[in-house]
Amino acid sequence: MADGMRPEVDLRTDRAHGARIYDYILGGKDNYAVDRAAAEATLQIWPALGVHMRANRTFMHRAARFLAQECGVRQFLDIGTGIPTPPNLHEIVQEVAPETRVVYTDNDPIVLAHARALMTSAERGRTAYIQSDMREPEALLAAPELHETLDQDRPIGLMLIAIVHFIEDDDEALAVVRRIIDAMPSGSYVAATVATDDFAPEMLAKVTDTYHEHGESMRFRDKAAAERFFDGLELVDPGLVQMHKWRPDDDEHLSVPDADIAMYGGIARKP
Ligand code: SAH
Repeated sequence: MADGMRPEVDLRTDRAHGARIYDYILGGKDNYAVDRAAAEATLQIWPALGVHMRANRTFMHRAARFLAQECGVRQFLDIGTGIPTPPNLHEIVQEVAPETRVVYTDNDPIVLAHARALMTSAERGRTAYIQSDMREPEALLAAPELHETLDQDRPIGLMLIAIVHFIEDDDEALAVVRRIIDAMPSGSYVAATVATDDFAPEMLAKVTDTYHEHGESMRFRDKAAAERFFDGLELVDPGLVQMHKWRPDDDEHLSVPDADIAMYGGIARKP
């Protein structure tokens, strides 16, 4: 991106991508026919897809504000950023504290192509974007942009929002998350949403099949499996709950049936 142009990337418009399905559902324009087909096929099976995905995005907003406001976190590492959708993480946390720094990462080339929209940091803060696959944590942890942007000796807010379900193997997903948390100092926080089929198992089995048919992967976890991502950490109140019930801003969540929300959400502190 050094020349200010979009990089030459292969966007693989022959298969659906999670980032673009999500963008379509959130009302964005950075998606292709194959993504819209996957989204529409999923909506046929599970009409709540939009409710669920919007609840995920608003969990991110609340989690970011909580970490910045209540926990004083001033540096964030966001893994699986997605296509920029305002408000983005840095916009939320820099509203609380303009000096806050954010490193964004994603492995989808379409996110790289739109990363400029994430580089609109407040003057005193800073943002960086690293194209990286979470399944290769060593490369991410060694990235110069990470070390130039975040002070590895001060607490970091690790955001894992709607990403771990893309790593289907439990041991691999846990090992990757553990490796990244191990590299962060004491007093750091992890905010995560973890896909679950605990509340609508039959429908979500069909959703998994539909994603697979369109070329995208997906793994739902039960509560015990979701909790393992927080092993050794201190979950803050109210613990790991369906994400729309995690410190809701208003009573809107009360009208949402449990079956419409297929993610647990939680925040934990590294002792
Ligand atoms: N975190 C944002 C976007 C979620 S969409 C939000 O919750 O609003 C999930 C994102 O994870 C997509 O952009 C997808 O490209 C990314 N992703 C999936 N697997 C990944 C991996 N192995 N490494 C990095 N990013 C990944």
